[in-house]
Amino acid sequence: MSTPVYLVEYSDVAAEAGARNTIGGSPVLPAGESWPECFCGSRMVLFFQFDIPADIPVFGGNHLLAFQCRHHDDVPFVESGPQLPDAFWDGPTNPGYPGPFWRLMLHRDETGPVGDTEKTFSARVLTLSAGSDGSADGDYWPLFKVGGEPDWVQSPESPRCPCGADMVFVCQVPESYGFSDEHEPYADDYMIFLGNAVYVLACPVRCHPAAVWPVPQN
Ligand SMILES: [Zn+2]
Ligand SMILES: [Zn+2]
Repeated sequence: MSTPVYLVEYSDVAAEAGARNTIGGSPVLPAGESWPECFCGSRMVLFFQFDIPADIPVFGGNHLLAFQCRHHDDVPFVESGPQLPDAFWDGPTNPGYPGPFWRLMLHRDETGPVGDTEKTFSARVLTLSAGSDGSADGDYWPLFKVGGEPDWVQSPESPRCPCGADMVFVCQVPESYGFSDEHEPYADDYMIFLGNAVYVLACPVRCHPAAVWPVPQN
């Protein structure tokens, strides 16, 4: 039996207040976490969030959130190799910056959306629909998907959580994926992690809600 895979797509449908699967919108944060800020003091942009379908191994039933500063669009780069630095989520993950400029979080806390909304994009509905590994756009262009096997465009990478656990694949975002505001389609696209293909891996032990790492490739 093959592992479940869900394809993620975003629509022109405006997300209603309280929606959990969105581009922009109101984040459903882990208990005890507030809306993350970049080292520069700006509130980070909520790029997307969704509930991971229950039948996905390891992370089914968790809620994933992806934030990054709109002024500091870059990629994490650490010298430590596969072993990630202690509490990397609160520290610098790129030699060019003194502190965090992105934050990915994964949790299953019984929290609801915060009483504030992302202003960079209009909140829109994300849909997850059953797919399969190997469904690709073209020869091997990675799709936006959750679960299954990562479609690496370079060599596979295996980051290790500060707690010692080998991180497990959660989802991937295609290269050059633009998050645009519906009022100015394509004129004002925002990309995450410089528009790399991004492979999101997380600590299977869930030692911290932000023990989630983006591997950028192109
Ligand atoms: Zn910033
Ligand atoms: Zn861990």
